[in-house]
Amino acid sequence: MSLPVPRPDLQALEGYHSPQLDVDVRLNTNESPFAPPGAFVDAWLDALSAAELHRYPDRAARALREGIGAHLGQPVERVFAANGSNEVLQTLLLTYGGPGRRALVFEPTYALHSHICRITGTGVLVGERDSDFRISPTEAGLLIAAERPDVVFVCSPNNPTGTVEARATLEAVLTAVLDHGPGLLVVDEAYGEFADHTALSLVADDLPLVVSRTYSKVWSLAALRLGFCIAPPAVVAELDKVVLPYHLSTATQTAGVAALAFRDEMDARVATLVSERHRLTEALRRLPGLTVYPSGANFVLVRADGDGHVLWQRLVEHGVLVRDFSRWPRLDDCLRITVGTPDENDRCIAALRESLEGS
Ligand code: PMP
Repeated sequence: MSLPVPRPDLQALEGYHSPQLDVDVRLNTNESPFAPPGAFVDAWLDALSAAELHRYPDRAARALREGIGAHLGQPVERVFAANGSNEVLQTLLLTYGGPGRRALVFEPTYALHSHICRITGTGVLVGERDSDFRISPTEAGLLIAAERPDVVFVCSPNNPTGTVEARATLEAVLTAVLDHGPGLLVVDEAYGEFADHTALSLVADDLPLVVSRTYSKVWSLAALRLGFCIAPPAVVAELDKVVLPYHLSTATQTAGVAALAFRDEMDARVATLVSERHRLTEALRRLPGLTVYPSGANFVLVRADGDGHVLWQRLVEHGVLVRDFSRWPRLDDCLRITVGTPDENDRCIAALRESLEGS
């Protein structure tokens, strides 16, 4: 057998792994625990049954972009949509990264940022977060001045730590990018709706800032794969050139438009999840043997005093699956718990209590 070998720079690449196990309580992938409203599904299917399925979708996704823009108070020219915010990030790196260019990430952070860098041939520069997982604006500024990265990723709220960067930090990083450019600051706000502030209001036509968001969490539509970014129109025009034509199916576009009519329901879900996050955080803080990190997302990161992987296994034995980060660099013994329904959270707290007592 003689099969071709992949690009040499891809040979060390490991795939993205997020193990799924068949358990009762799945709190490992930061999805919404709530299915979308039935009335949304009806409205979407109605729109889909009126669609001309023998035709390609609207290449410009005009109705969707207008809807997203209106929803966020942004002009339509600033909206770019793709199949999940991962495809938004990939399109950004295909456009502004690539061979000979480098992107800065602050670890520990969302693994796909550096993964997509590798796939697109973009070099990865690693900045460190402090012991509370915050980005130091001073150190970030020094790093940007010294290295002049082409792209800077700031994930806020940060996955998997939940850390929300202060607005002053985002402004300082943006200033550093402006002063030592030309670079692009990408603020990944996949969990932005769960936090108390956003970088969206900083986006301006003449600033090198992009804010990416997703329908996967708040809008309960992870299965559909829809994400978007708000960016200067000149950046959006470049992304439109790079992304594959007709990449966003009619099914996805119509779902994205239909969902926007259910804003009140979605806001209510966010409020429920935020209050459950507070309740979960307080309950976890009362358990012995755990450090609980503050979170502005729909998940909470904890660090076990003992072996985090053993704790993860015990939780699985209790029918609760969380995400095991215990062997990740900078995240020794850490587990990430997605906020679920009140009942799922109760079961997780009980399983943790029993598992910790048994240790
Ligand atoms: N950014 C962050 C920080 C995430 O955690 C995720 C989902 N795990 C994404 C982007 C991608 O989300 P999606 O592609 O589903 O929009």
